[in-house]
Amino acid sequence: MKKILFITSLLSILLFSFQVNATASTNSREVYEKTGRVIWEVNTKEKLVALTFDDGPHPVFTSQILDILAKHDAKATFFVAGNKVVRFPDLLKREVREGHEIANHTFHHTYGNITSAKLSSELEETDKMINQFTGLKPSLYRPVGGFYNDVIINTALKNGKTVVLWSWGQDSRDWADPPVNQMCSYIKNGIKPGNIILFHDWHGSEYTQTCSTVKALDNILDFLDKNEYKSVTVSELLSRSTQLIPESFGIYPSKKGRTSHIDLIF
Ligand SMILES: [Zn+2]
Repeated sequence: MKKILFITSLLSILLFSFQVNATASTNSREVYEKTGRVIWEVNTKEKLVALTFDDGPHPVFTSQILDILAKHDAKATFFVAGNKVVRFPDLLKREVREGHEIANHTFHHTYGNITSAKLSSELEETDKMINQFTGLKPSLYRPVGGFYNDVIINTALKNGKTVVLWSWGQDSRDWADPPVNQMCSYIKNGIKPGNIILFHDWHGSEYTQTCSTVKALDNILDFLDKNEYKSVTVSELLSRSTQLIPESFGIYPSKKGRTSHIDLIF
C-alpha cells in the first residue's frame, strides 16, 4: 500500500512538473533542443549539410533553383507556404519528383504571435494541400520568420511536427538582396558538417525578375562539391546525426551523459 502511495505521489509530482513546464514562458534553445523536436542543426562528423528554401513555390525562381540543384545532384528541403502551393502545384510536384523534401511553412505565412487554434488550422490546411498534390504528409515545420514561443512549439508538436529552424551562422539573408559575392563568402566561410542553411525561393513578388539566391547557389554548390560536402534533405540529415545537440560548435558548454537524438524523442 505504502509503495502504491509512493508511486502515486511520484506520478503527481512528475505531472505537476510537466504542467508547470508546459505553461512556462518561452524556453531557451538548450531546453527545446534537448527534446529532439526542435532543430537548429545536427551533430555529425560526416560532411553533410541541408539546404532549405522558404516561402515558395515561386513561378520563376523555384524552377531555376531546381535546375541548379539537379546539376549538382544536391537534395534540398522546401518549406512551402500553402497559399503558394495552391497557385503553383506543378512546381511542388516537380520538387517531389526530383527527390527533394517538402515541409510545412503555414498557409498564409503569418508572422509573430499566433494562437494555438490558428496555427493548427494553418498547419492542417497546408498539409491538406501538399497531400492533395503529392500524396505526402510533411513531418517538418518551420515557424515564419523563425519566430517561436511555447505556444508555437507546443502546437507544432501536438500536430506531429518537428520544428526546424536553421544554424545561427547560416542565414543567407537573401531576402535583403545582398551583394552575391558577400552572400557566397558568408555561407562558405561558415560551413560545418550538420549545418542547416536558410535560403528563400520566393523573392519580392511573382513578377520580380532577379533573385540573389539563384545567382549565389551555383557558386555555393561548386564550393560544397569541391570540399566533398553532400547536400541532403533535413530528414536525411536528422537520420544520419550521431547526437542532436551540437556541443562541438561551442554554442553552450557541453554536458556529460546527454541522451542520443533517438532517445530524446517523446
Ligand atoms: Zn518565410
